[in-house]
Amino acid sequence: MESDILLVDLKAQYLTIKNEVDTAIHKVLDSVSFVMGPAVAEFETAFANYIGTKEALGVGSGTSALHLSLLACGVEPGDEVITSTLSFFATAEAILQAGAVPVFVDINPETYNIDASQIESALSSKTKAIIPVHLYGQSADMDPIMKIAKAHNLVVIEDACQAHGAKYKGKHCGTFGNAAAFSFYPGKNLGSYGDGGAITSSDSTVISRIKSLRDHGRQSKYIHDEMGYGERLDSIQAAVLKAKLPYLDCWTELRRQHAKTYENHLKGLELVLPRETEGCNHVYHLYVLRTPHRDKLLRYLNENGVGAALHYPLSQHEQPAIKKLGYTKPLPIAEQATKEILSLPMYPELTENQLGYIIERIRAFFKTYG
Ligand SMILES: *Cc1c(COP(=O)(O)O)cnc(C)c1O
Repeated sequence: MESDILLVDLKAQYLTIKNEVDTAIHKVLDSVSFVMGPAVAEFETAFANYIGTKEALGVGSGTSALHLSLLACGVEPGDEVITSTLSFFATAEAILQAGAVPVFVDINPETYNIDASQIESALSSKTKAIIPVHLYGQSADMDPIMKIAKAHNLVVIEDACQAHGAKYKGKHCGTFGNAAAFSFYPGKNLGSYGDGGAITSSDSTVISRIKSLRDHGRQSKYIHDEMGYGERLDSIQAAVLKAKLPYLDCWTELRRQHAKTYENHLKGLELVLPRETEGCNHVYHLYVLRTPHRDKLLRYLNENGVGAALHYPLSQHEQPAIKKLGYTKPLPIAEQATKEILSLPMYPELTENQLGYIIERIRAFFKTYG
């Protein structure tokens, strides 16, 4: 390969939509309506229609989407919030920012999502909410999760930050919980050109709480009903997102084709490949495989110009910031997984040549070291 293959190549995508995105950005510049302008409202409507919720509300990031959702759903200091230990650290961080206590549950080793059968034993009298994470772009098993939530009167907030367009039994991720958090961090399946996020919800109480919280608890310009936050989505990001949204399903289809190509050419090696669960529409935010030779394979691929990476090297309960809080309970399935997982380059614009090279390198590795 002439140049390295990145884990995600943002430039390759920008070049395919440069005209539209540049035009959209210039329209915002001309309007000088930079915060909460018409571009934000237009994107919110388009995204709510796409996901299938009453509303979508732009916020500053996926992390603020989780944080504000927790507050809007009535999670209070001291409440316990159950979540999957295997996620980006922001899931636990948002729970802690709300003053609540994260309770980590181990994963299902096939999907890497929360093991729903272990949620009940994590419940206590203080449990207020569950945050299932649709990790790597595949929905968590929402039926049993919603059933437990209903039986115990718990709030459900989906962490859909990796799951734009993913489905569970025909419905989009982001439609199941009281609220759902999306991130538009540039490398996400729908990414802005800076930080951004959104909350989807069909619950009017939650929606009006978020509208207040994201914008300084405003009732009108300088009258504040409560303490809120400065966590709005800016107009330039909204304009970029609105220009990109019509391409999302097509980009997802390309990701799914690349996953198929990986699968067809990597099966039979000492690798566990990602598996799409029946009823789920995996959107392959990340293509994560698993091997006992992980460390060697990672080094080999990186030395050969392939931007393989780890998502994540540690589960949340193993993070230094969490251990400091006194978490000691082992969650062995996730702990073992973090030693064996490896993410291969995955983005819609990956070429056949690039895929061929990555596959050829992996096969060469197993011939030599396997
Ligand atoms: C990216 C991500 C977040 C945080 O989103 P930001 O926009 O980076 O704040 C939260 N949870 C998961 C699972 C993520 O992948």
